[in-house]
Amino acid sequence: MVESPWGPLPGWLVFTFALILGGSLGSFANVLIYRLPEELSLLRPASRCPKCGRAIKPVENIPVISWILLGGRCKGCGESISIQYPLIEAASAIIIMFCVFKWGVTYQALAYGLLFIGLIALILIDLRHWLLPFAITIPLTVVGLAGAILFGMRPWADSLIGMGVGFAIFLVMLLAGKWIFKKEALGGGDVVFGMMAGAFLGWKSVILMMFVASFLGTLLAVIMLISGKEIAGRSVPFGPFLAIALVICLFTGDAMIAWYINMFAH
Ligand SMILES: [Zn+2]
Repeated sequence: MVESPWGPLPGWLVFTFALILGGSLGSFANVLIYRLPEELSLLRPASRCPKCGRAIKPVENIPVISWILLGGRCKGCGESISIQYPLIEAASAIIIMFCVFKWGVTYQALAYGLLFIGLIALILIDLRHWLLPFAITIPLTVVGLAGAILFGMRPWADSLIGMGVGFAIFLVMLLAGKWIFKKEALGGGDVVFGMMAGAFLGWKSVILMMFVASFLGTLLAVIMLISGKEIAGRSVPFGPFLAIALVICLFTGDAMIAWYINMFAH
């Protein structure tokens, strides 16, 4: 049995629901990944085969299962359907199951689930288009702040100050990059990402996230240099590092900060 606001529920029921919810959210994440960068409507038209234009029926749109039953091909023209669709759907289902396993049937589980699935969408969009769309980061900021104010996920003041600090750090870096290096290393998308991260992490961990992301970025550059892979002229967007750093800081931020302070206390 799993505890829930409606009393204990059978485990199989909760996890079946988590699986269906996760798969559906993954399906929606796929829509975001393909349509947001093209500035297409999220609602219309219904999904179509990009090659032959054949409308995808609801029964062919069941997360993961439909892709397997169709053999990864469009029923109309045989064009192969990217394996990214079922992979994102499966990953999202696993994420929601994990969150329910860790936080139970709570707002917290849903909020972190939405955050993690949103981060996957942000990573893929940033890698392809160098964009961190506001349409993802702003709603997630609201999810994080609401979690703090209404459900005690963090002290609400910490969440609110975190938003301000996250926003400010990135804004300063963006402006400094423009003035000092005469190039745009960061964009408005990063600034709002900072605000979103602050809502979930609080002000201390959002600063830590910045350092962890920079460290990860440097680490990758060093690895690419040592392995002899060409990196000249091939830069990587910062968003994926930020997303990974956010997750690391969410789980270990408080412990890392305590360890750091402790180091100087002696
Ligand atoms: Zn087709």
